[in-house]
Amino acid sequence: MVDATFDPCAEPRLMPLAQAQQALIESARVLVPAERCALGAALGRVLAQDLYSPVDVPPAANSAMDGYALRVEDLSAGPERCLPISQRIPAGQAPRPLAPGSAARLFTGAEIPEGANAVVMQEKVRVLDDGRVEFPGEVREGQNIRPQGQDIATGSLVMPAGTRLDARALGVLASVGVAELSVYRRLRVAILSTGDELVEPGQALASGQIYNSNRYLLQGLIAQLGMEAVDLGPVADTAAATEAALCAAVARADLVLTTGGVSVGEEDHVKAAVERLGKLLLWKLNLKPGKPFAAGEVKGRPLYGLPGNPGAAMITFALLVKPCLLAAQGARVEAAQELIVRAGFSRARATSREEYVRVRCEADGVARLHPNQSSALLSSLLWSNGLVRLEPGQTVEEGDPVAFLPLYVLQF
Ligand code: AMP
Ligand code: MG
Repeated sequence: MVDATFDPCAEPRLMPLAQAQQALIESARVLVPAERCALGAALGRVLAQDLYSPVDVPPAANSAMDGYALRVEDLSAGPERCLPISQRIPAGQAPRPLAPGSAARLFTGAEIPEGANAVVMQEKVRVLDDGRVEFPGEVREGQNIRPQGQDIATGSLVMPAGTRLDARALGVLASVGVAELSVYRRLRVAILSTGDELVEPGQALASGQIYNSNRYLLQGLIAQLGMEAVDLGPVADTAAATEAALCAAVARADLVLTTGGVSVGEEDHVKAAVERLGKLLLWKLNLKPGKPFAAGEVKGRPLYGLPGNPGAAMITFALLVKPCLLAAQGARVEAAQELIVRAGFSRARATSREEYVRVRCEADGVARLHPNQSSALLSSLLWSNGLVRLEPGQTVEEGDPVAFLPLYVLQF
């Protein structure tokens, strides 16, 4: 629904989020070279090659059951349906061809002997006193056999360049026998926390001071993406300190993240420093929280200036910066998938800004609103498990369908 009192032109110079996202992702480039990496060290890295399978998986037909391998034709020959056992094949042992008119005792994962075309599970046979085995039930050709190459065929594309290597991917790579692979060097991301009020955890707070939470928030977000944080520490609220810190950052990292100092006050120096040292691509978004956001470049390196308020820093990181970091790291970037859930809250008065509200969505599919949506709060993000997106002018009645972005999608 649309609020009748809604004024779409409230702050006309603010850039819509989607426009900023598009401009940023279009200007993002891979910023790191490829390098070789052992499979065991590849968790969290990004694949830099298209990877084709050198083998079939499984490499040979094998048994899905503990049981008996036989040739179906040998059973239908006589009324007795009994066969002698001609060999025993545990997993890991090479079988001999199956002697005609016999069965092979074998175990899950054991290779199917040449000549056999079915496996009967051991629960469905009777072992006779003379050692022969009786197969009373119907036996279909191919039953309980995992065919060679069923999972992955030799020469097929296992995963394309740009794949982020999570635990599943490592398992698949191991299954095709890859011991070493080409990955992108970890992206080095400089972090600067601006603000004269900031002190580090472990120190006592004097009047006017607060703890530097953004520094640790960003260190964690970057590590979770498999990247390397280059922490340049806190930066004083002066033009000279800000410029010096930005120069140090671009000398040591592939790109730069700053927090704070990007708003309109005279204590905000990041935007001006970027304009002096490089160029500003965009500034100020029609977004709540996250209006004070800047992006540009310094000495050819991308820079993203996040708001100082920690809640806003986290949300702008997730919505705007994370896709650009992944692109710079060489990863394929997929749009964060929204889910449609039911609003567990109402909103009669719309805002002119696109808004992301912190919610907790339970198993009933209802998104409950955190009572305090202040952009300064981080604890509300800890409580929530996602954000509901509200478009400019959108009002909400309880039970309305709303777009929900799970935090696990936004963060990792
Ligand atoms: P600023 O954009 O620099 O005006 O900062 C906006 C708000 O965020 C202020 O209340 C700051 O004190 C707070 N803030 C800025 N940086 C940090 C930080 N690193 N950790 C926690 N709060 C911060
Ligand atoms: Mg500040």
